[in-house]
Amino acid sequence: MSGIIARWKSRLPVGPRTPIVTLGEGATPLIRADRLAARAGLKSGQVFLKLEGCNPTGSFKDRGMTLAVSKALEEGARGVLCASTGNTSASAAAYAARAGLRCVVFLPKGKVAAGKLAQAVMHGAEIAEVKGNFDRALALAVEAARAKGWALVNSSNPHRLEGQKTAAFEIVEQLGRAPAAQFMPVGNAGNITAYWRGYRELGVRPRMFGWQAAGAAPLVRGRPVDDPKTLATAIRIGRPVSWEGAVAARDESGGAIGAVGDAQIVAAQRLLAREEGVFCEPASAAPAAGLLKLARGGRVPEGPIVLVLTGHGLKDPDAASRQRPRLRRVPARGGLRL
Ligand SMILES: *Cc1c(COP(=O)(O)O)cnc(C)c1O
Repeated sequence: MSGIIARWKSRLPVGPRTPIVTLGEGATPLIRADRLAARAGLKSGQVFLKLEGCNPTGSFKDRGMTLAVSKALEEGARGVLCASTGNTSASAAAYAARAGLRCVVFLPKGKVAAGKLAQAVMHGAEIAEVKGNFDRALALAVEAARAKGWALVNSSNPHRLEGQKTAAFEIVEQLGRAPAAQFMPVGNAGNITAYWRGYRELGVRPRMFGWQAAGAAPLVRGRPVDDPKTLATAIRIGRPVSWEGAVAARDESGGAIGAVGDAQIVAAQRLLAREEGVFCEPASAAPAAGLLKLARGGRVPEGPIVLVLTGHGLKDPDAASRQRPRLRRVPARGGLRL
């Protein structure tokens, strides 16, 4: 059987009676990014991309969701709930459908990318649109979970981070060693916390570099941001749930958390698509923007660097269509000179 629970059972909180709800998540590709490396002034074979957009619903959220929904089922919950900037709801909706559970998602009005909303709708989730940002949606979800006795599958659910740590195991296996550094986007900071836990369990210590959008960079500023702004909706978070986890990952690993502007994010997203053939969503391009930023200052760490590309580009078609394509018109009987 495939999926992260079957693969990493001995390192996860599951027993013989845990019903495994899986869509075959994990085992995502780790590929070289030599052109990006060259742009950052690095050698071929030094920069790698972990393609988490290749998970069943198109983001890394599936790693945590397979475990969170399996445990919800084991514990007899009738349904699952979450607040989401999009990918958590898409993943929760899919795994709940798979498990035969009800799913209610609280989404901040007008702030969710089209592909993600389409997934939640298609998988039959009940959608509550919240007038307010993610932080408000989360407060409502917490309240509803308590009232109904359903499982809250946000990253505050400990099973989510347990599932997500398996990506660190895969990277070490795929590289044949630990990377010297890992670059990743940071929103609620659950994922950076989970990776650091995974690496620690293996006894390795890559330097962890987290990247936030400049308009939503509470960890860089050292205080919450009340009105976070960025086109990278997956990291439009003002009060990260796993604040302490991110700070611990940064400090214990000798890493850093930095900010990149939306223009840099969009430029990096384009570069990955055009020069590496990898289409990721805007938030997922933040680490590439961060690498180029460090390169401009001559401060790139030595040794192999892994960039975690957290979600697929098709999640957010509007972000991509803002880039005007140059269309050429061809008459029905005509030809095209290239
Ligand atoms: C959820 C998400 C993030 C942010 O992860 P956190 O664990 O909240 O820091 C980044 N990118 C994508 C595509 C996501 O879906």
